Formats: sequence, structure tokens, C-alpha cells
Amino acid sequence: MTWDERQRAMLAEMGHRLPPSAAAAQAIEAESEPEPIVVAAPPPVVVRVAAPPPAPAAPSSFSGLDLPALREAVSTCRACGLCEQRRSAVFGGGALQRVQWLVVTDPPDGTDDAAGEPFAGEAGRLLDRMLLAAGQRRAGDGATAFVTPIVNCRPPRGRAPQVIELDACDAVLARQVELLQPRLVLAVGLQAARRLTGLAEPLGRLRGRVHSWGGLPLVVTYHPAYLLRSAADKAGAWDDLCLARRTMQSS
Ligand code: SF4
Repeated sequence: MTWDERQRAMLAEMGHRLPPSAAAAQAIEAESEPEPIVVAAPPPVVVRVAAPPPAPAAPSSFSGLDLPALREAVSTCRACGLCEQRRSAVFGGGALQRVQWLVVTDPPDGTDDAAGEPFAGEAGRLLDRMLLAAGQRRAGDGATAFVTPIVNCRPPRGRAPQVIELDACDAVLARQVELLQPRLVLAVGLQAARRLTGLAEPLGRLRGRVHSWGGLPLVVTYHPAYLLRSAADKAGAWDDLCLARRTMQSS
């Protein structure tokens, strides 16, 4: 893979070191001896063959709704107990038509719940830099990605969502998939990764391979909020993004 200057800048923000560009190399040579360069080897693509859970089917209550109507329906949804303590449902955001990547994240946190949007804080800014570095964007003209939580309402006290709550909210995700027709799904965070893969394994064991979800390729990576606390894993996140990018290009 080659990187342009914009991607180099974003990767630098992610804390990932790359070989210098030709221009940068000339400048370095002119002023000083260059430092040794460390480049991470790309991770292998390993296709998982075990049967993953199927993508859910959208129930009749959401069928026929376009994206704005679905957002409105979610804002008043009472299909599970998570509606009781939410301030606002967090529907998701991004491109309003066919996308390349559907990014499915862990449940909303308090910031998301207050804003009614996923990744409203610093973690969201890091996610945007990660997506841009991989050639994706969730906002503005030419948006290519849509970001949505695995459940749209915040579980109280930061607990993990229960199976009955995940099952209820599958209907929203199913309709989003029908409308957005993504080419690849990126699971961001442990809870999203476990739900979509159907595997109760540590995140580190779910990364580095291509899963399948509802016939779509699925790649797992770290949650940006975790990466803000653990900068050493940003290089691993970049490996995940490279894997996702290669997978989409070859599909
Ligand atoms: S979590 Fe999903 S299913 Fe439950 S109330 Fe919220 S939108 Fe409805």
C-alpha cells in the first residue's frame, strides 16, 4: 500500500510511524542522518470458516422506512427496556445512501446519550482520523461510511447490553444494512465485535482475520476510546484498517 501526504499526517496523529516520503527523505538527508525506520509488517488475511450468526431480518415495523423515517422511529422506539433511562436514542450518522463501510460500535456512552449522536467527543475525532487514513469518511460531501452503535440506547451505569436488548435492536441494524448496502462491516470495540462474530473471545483474538456477517466481510478493531488510553495499540488499529481496506478492494 502507498500513502499520500494526507494519510501520512493522519497516521502520524494516530501515532503510527511510516517511511518518509521522497520529499521528506530529501529534507532529512540534507540536514542530518536519518533515524532507523521501523515498519510494521501487514497482518495476514485469515478467512474464518466457522458459521457466524446470520444478519437479522428487519421486522415489518421498520420495513419500507427510509433512513430519516427509521431515525424518527428509533427516537421513539420502546422495543426493549433500554428506552426507560435514555435521554436520547443514538441512531448513528454518516452517508445517507449506499456506503462502503458500515462501522458498528459499542453501545452509546453518556456523552453520546446526551448528544444523541455516536462518538460525540474526542474518541469520535480519533475515529474520523482513522477512517480518513483508510480512505473513508462519515461526514460531508462524499461520505462513504456510516457509524452506528450495536444498540441505539445507552445501557444504564455503563453495563453491557443484555441478549434480549441486543436481539430487540437487531431490527434497526438490519434495516440500516438494507438501506446502506455496505461492502464491509468494521466492528469497533469488544461488545460490537462479540455480538457480530458470535464469539466470546478477547478482542485480541478477534482481530487480524476476516469474519463473515450476513454474507458481508467483517473486520474487528479497537474502540477509539481505548486507543486514547493505550497509544501503543494504535499501530495494531492501523493494521486492522489496512486489512479492511485490502478486503474490500479484493471483494
Ligand atoms: S435499544 Fe434499540 S430496541 Fe431497545 S429501545 Fe432503544 S432503539 Fe429500541
